Amino acid sequence: MIVAPGATIGIVGGGQLGRMLAIAAAQLGYRSHILSPEASGPATEVAAAWTRGDYDDWESMRRFGEAVDVVTYEFENVDPHTVAGLAGFVPLRPSCLSLDVSRYRPNEKQCAERMGGATAPWRTVRDPAELAAAVDQLGTPAILKTCMFGYDGKGQARIDRREDADGAWQAIGAPSPQDANSAPAILEKRVDFLAEFSVILCRGADGAIVVWDTPENVHRGGILDTSTLPARPEVLAQASAAVELAKGIAEQLGHIGVLTCEFFATVDGPIFNEMAPRVHNSGHWTIEGAVTSQFENHIRAICGLPLGDAGLVVPKVRMKNLIGEDAARWREILSDPCAHLHLYGKGETRPGRKMGHVTWLG
Ligand code: AMP
Repeated sequence: MIVAPGATIGIVGGGQLGRMLAIAAAQLGYRSHILSPEASGPATEVAAAWTRGDYDDWESMRRFGEAVDVVTYEFENVDPHTVAGLAGFVPLRPSCLSLDVSRYRPNEKQCAERMGGATAPWRTVRDPAELAAAVDQLGTPAILKTCMFGYDGKGQARIDRREDADGAWQAIGAPSPQDANSAPAILEKRVDFLAEFSVILCRGADGAIVVWDTPENVHRGGILDTSTLPARPEVLAQASAAVELAKGIAEQLGHIGVLTCEFFATVDGPIFNEMAPRVHNSGHWTIEGAVTSQFENHIRAICGLPLGDAGLVVPKVRMKNLIGEDAARWREILSDPCAHLHLYGKGETRPGRKMGHVTWLG
């Protein structure tokens, strides 16, 4: 099914990813319609239409779905049961399956393991007693994470010693199970990694896959700080196995659109950490650094169009996030003629808030 230029693309979520998707959609002649609960946001400012509504409010979701020709999403913490209702009358790309697997950490780890990928040893935990047992089994150092709704290092706590377990449980909000089938938290053995990197690919509606070059990513305080290409040779040596795994996952899910998998490069090879069924912060450099950006290819994929080339346009690219007050340096950044500045139009600057990013070519 082809959604031709001139049609309206529905984007669930109104943040910076939605903003950059809407900009790419406009370039191809599409209108974008955002669904988000906020009074305004980075994406609503650049879209043709906007439905204000909560993500679990079926009435808003239905009105939104009736007004658009295809629906996609910019984040995975959407209730698949609510969006599943949409799938009856408007194409949902990527599908509910991609959403279901990637929004719950144990599902994504099991998915990668089934495809032959390695993960850090992990255990689901439902309460402090299970956490204490899991710490005994896995040992320390470890990281406790909420199974859902975590982002940018939120919902995570380090456990360096056995005695830290109770404090970590409180630090992630002492979560309770949502239902009988899911655990609220996961304990992971801390990986001693050489580097972090991501595989960003896009799978078209016809099954064709393009893969961007592998960025080496540095996180600070759980938040992505920089993505650099090319990655160091010791990291690149692990990229092809990771790319094969990510392709296998995309095919297994019948995924349509961008899929991002994050990995740790270790002395024992790549370890899968997590995946996102969407465009990703570690792919922002593709706007200027690749022949076709992740945003444009995502729009092409969900509309059933051929994908554009994902090759690098220059040998070296670097992206840096502007977090909190970093964005106040916009004059200094623009004084460098090789810097491409992106500001997301967020009114309020807060520590840890992603306000924009810069990409340097060459
Ligand atoms: P995540 O939300 O899982 O992507 O975690 C955010 C960041 O925390 C990662 O990019 C790593 O820098 C760090 N981290 C998460 N899990 C682990 C782990 N098992 N071992 C070491 N570092 C981790």
